Amino acid sequence: MTGEAAERILMLRYYRDDEKSFDELCRRVAGAIADSPEEEAEYFDMMNTLRFLPNSPTLMNAGTDMNQLAACFTLYVGDSITEIFDAMKWGAMIHKSGGGTGYNFSNIRPEGAFVESSEGVASGPVSFMKAFDAVTGVIRQGGRRRGANMGILNVDHPDILKFINSKTREGDIANFNISVMVTDRFMGLVEAGRFDRVWITREETAEEITVGDIWNGITEGIWRNGEPGLLFYDEINRKNMTPALGNINATNPCGEQPLLPFESCVLGSINLSKFIDEKGETDLASLEKTIRTAVKFLDRIIDKNRYPIPEIEEATKRTRKVGLGLMGVHDALIMRRIPYDSPEGRKYCGSIMQFVAETAVSESGRLAEEKGPFPAWKGSVWEKNGKMVRNAALTTIAPTGSISIIAECSSGIEPVFSYSYTRMNTAGESFRMVHPLFKKELETVAGKLFPNPEERERRVGEVLSHVHETGTVQDIGWLPDSFTKIFTTALDIRWRDHILMQAAFQEHVHASISKTINMPGTSTKNEISEALLFAWRCRLKGITIYRTSSRKDAVLCLGKFG
Ligand code: ADP
Repeated sequence: MTGEAAERILMLRYYRDDEKSFDELCRRVAGAIADSPEEEAEYFDMMNTLRFLPNSPTLMNAGTDMNQLAACFTLYVGDSITEIFDAMKWGAMIHKSGGGTGYNFSNIRPEGAFVESSEGVASGPVSFMKAFDAVTGVIRQGGRRRGANMGILNVDHPDILKFINSKTREGDIANFNISVMVTDRFMGLVEAGRFDRVWITREETAEEITVGDIWNGITEGIWRNGEPGLLFYDEINRKNMTPALGNINATNPCGEQPLLPFESCVLGSINLSKFIDEKGETDLASLEKTIRTAVKFLDRIIDKNRYPIPEIEEATKRTRKVGLGLMGVHDALIMRRIPYDSPEGRKYCGSIMQFVAETAVSESGRLAEEKGPFPAWKGSVWEKNGKMVRNAALTTIAPTGSISIIAECSSGIEPVFSYSYTRMNTAGESFRMVHPLFKKELETVAGKLFPNPEERERRVGEVLSHVHETGTVQDIGWLPDSFTKIFTTALDIRWRDHILMQAAFQEHVHASISKTINMPGTSTKNEISEALLFAWRCRLKGITIYRTSSRKDAVLCLGKFG
């Protein structure tokens, strides 16, 4: 059963012409992926009960002529006009089918460099990125949503400063997230404070770019409007399970899936809150069953998927990566009455993610016995570890921006942004949504403290208005600590605790994690620098920071949710 906000998004973007209900959608998707009636029943059940949902392209396209089911792609970009425009064309085809693309532009020679064939000067990666952006702007995904891209430049590319500053004006290159791919060597110099050290000397002009120039640009950009993000090249490649196929230098748009050139990946997320019972216990037996079914489902998709181009089919089938993750994590913590920003919270999350990863690997092993390991298994780290699996990577934490609205749970591993916000119903009218667990607990607490029904009602009303306006309950004196500690929001939680939570998950995630590290509006560039270094030391694969109110069009605003 889906709620009103979920129905609206389903009607607008997910139902096919002949569909009127979520039941019908689940039947279409299950039917398209299953190999047997028993499997079909299992797939239907886990989606229909909102225990598991695959990424949007699967929900939208499974069983249709398009049948493109993956959300994540990375494309190779070479330095010739043909290679650049090939990538642009493939990107457009992927966007049309509902997928997002990531590109590392570092092969493109810097601005001002000589171009032999035309005896001209090169325009550099940033100019080409603008062209990719313009193309994305005109391709609509069947009218359902605009495409999304990740643009990456290595920290040693001569145009790095221009790249870092390419989104300074809000609205520029709007269809791209940008990230700098940094190395341990670079981060080591930052950590040691070697800011004067010359890092790049530009060939044409002999201009010297120091570590400090780059670091300043990065922290200034993040302070200004949250970009660029950082990707940690060495950590990503230390965890690359198929080094024989080459190094990884790109991710999909939201950063959760590092991929080799031309690989694609289908994501799916288990709604953890569905596995917590009234007593706050986690139903591991039922969770295990869903993990196994989900892995089988995602693995089946690799063979059923219709790929945009043959190179993508080849690369994807070579490693058979899938991205199983969690959503509804903060809801689950609330149900267990564990604060998100606590050692206990991180311990629970780490142990659950470990359980997900181990079970997924075990199921992938079972599939490998049945159908053989992934083709590039020989020479992979899996082989070295003596583990036969059908998928080179199994776990990922996706943002679940849309599917968590359908499942009506907190998104991915993010803390709740606000316990009260405005949403639209199916008729397009806006209405106030209050987090159901928050409301229930608030009424219980108020019931105990204020026996007088009128006063109780007034107090509850005050809290609801306050949380709707300001997003927080931390400053309401009469609420007991036991309540305020549990009902923290993304903005209440300190950046260190955000990063520690990401690290607790990363330890058990094969791919990467989409997460925003929120920092207060008053944060300084120095604090941003500290947070970036801390993330690197915690062995994250990437980091995205957002300073409150630093963007006018922030996706999540208090009292408003797009
Ligand atoms: P959903 O909830 O719709 O399944 P997520 O928010 O979890 O999607 O995003 C997962 C991935 O899907 C992103 O990292 C990106 O690769 C892709 N994606 C998300 N939104 C878009 C979009 N508008 N266009 C293209 N790809 C997208």
